[in-house]
Amino acid sequence: MTEPVPVDERSAARQFAVEVVQTLRAAGYEALWAGGCVRDWLLGKIPKDYDVATSAHPDQIRDLFGRRRTLAIGASFGVITVLGPRGAGQIEVATFRRDGGYSDGRHPDGVSFSTAAEDAQRRDFTINGIFFDPLEERVIDYVGGVEDLERKVVRAIGDPLARISEDKLRMLRAVRFAATFDFELEAATTAAIQQQAHEIVIVSAERIAAEMRRMLVHPGRATALRLLVESQLLDVILPEARLLDPASDAGPNETRGAAYERARSILARLEAPHFATALAALLRELQVADAPPIAQVVGSRWRLSNEERGLASWLLAHEALARHAHLHSWSRVQRMLIQPGAEELVQLGRAIAETLGESTAGIDYCAAKLRLPREELNPAPLITGNDLRTAGLQPGPKFRLLLESIRDAQLLGEITTKDEALHLARRLLT
Ligand code: ATP
Ligand code: MG
Repeated sequence: MTEPVPVDERSAARQFAVEVVQTLRAAGYEALWAGGCVRDWLLGKIPKDYDVATSAHPDQIRDLFGRRRTLAIGASFGVITVLGPRGAGQIEVATFRRDGGYSDGRHPDGVSFSTAAEDAQRRDFTINGIFFDPLEERVIDYVGGVEDLERKVVRAIGDPLARISEDKLRMLRAVRFAATFDFELEAATTAAIQQQAHEIVIVSAERIAAEMRRMLVHPGRATALRLLVESQLLDVILPEARLLDPASDAGPNETRGAAYERARSILARLEAPHFATALAALLRELQVADAPPIAQVVGSRWRLSNEERGLASWLLAHEALARHAHLHSWSRVQRMLIQPGAEELVQLGRAIAETLGESTAGIDYCAAKLRLPREELNPAPLITGNDLRTAGLQPGPKFRLLLESIRDAQLLGEITTKDEALHLARRLLT
């Protein structure tokens, strides 16, 4: 999860966003706040960042704020980044524009500079197309965005079929906005997404993963699952999930619907999970016996980080042990609980146990053990590979197993000193 931004940093960012508009206006240009920051502000949320739209062209913006305080990375589509004072972040200042054709289904072929009214039309959803004049505190709405915010609707600007076909990423953005704001996806926009869902493959794996990350860590993640199923996007980005579609004909009758309900319930019960934990919740019902571990398969398809893949796989491999921990040897459970994902494992295990309607005894046992003092739960190893070499033992493939056995004996309390550990090592080697 992202850390909450400190209050003075938030107001510094807002103050700077006002100043950027003032500077542009004083130089005779039109300038307005645009996009997500206006939407968030009207929803009573603190914007993550501010975007300014202006009649000034990129060169004029750079002349006004100075080369040293601006970055021109996005200049070819009319975006200049203006760097704020310490703690105020940076602001994207974009020239009002109209986008050219979209032949690749993802990016405009070119842009031409234009008016505020036209700039609103190129934006994706009405709730993202509202302008705000922070000097006069006035909303400027060319697209009916304010009404849709009030009615809690995500609706494409203009013809939904055309807008979705221009840029396929908008399909996932629509679902994310609906799920995270708890808004409805308007019917014609939904229909356009259903019709073009198979084309989501045009979007890069990294962008798909970025959207999935934002949806799955958000409290609206169970709604996101429902909308991903209804929009038919999930079938394409996660074909294994056909089992989760109550209306699909994949899988035996009794698993359809039931698997979906379990996945939904596990997701809903997580609180502020790591992305890997929420992903494990989504994938748990999709693991097929004898198939490769699903978190690795999906992790490589979405180009997730090794850390994300590793944690999701580890959680899925251990959740059953965690749920039944009280029935297993302490050394086995302890080895699991000293891993970095243990807290997430307890959270996931509890959500699964509650969903399955089983006792949470194993999870409660794990949670209690995790509260033990660190040196008791995870004491420093009595010996290392170096100690074995110093003691004249030949390194070899058995070393790791040997160290594990010694660690087990230590965790079980059978040995308590380095000498005892070395003694055991010699005994195990003969
Ligand atoms: P968030 O930052 O919370 O994801 P946002 O709406 O600010 O939401 P950004 O990606 O920061 O999203 O984009 C800022 C604005 O640019 C949007 O509000 C929208 O007006 C426009 N925009 C962004 N992506 C697209 C797109 N793929 N198609 C059309 N307009 C877009
Ligand atoms: Mg934004």
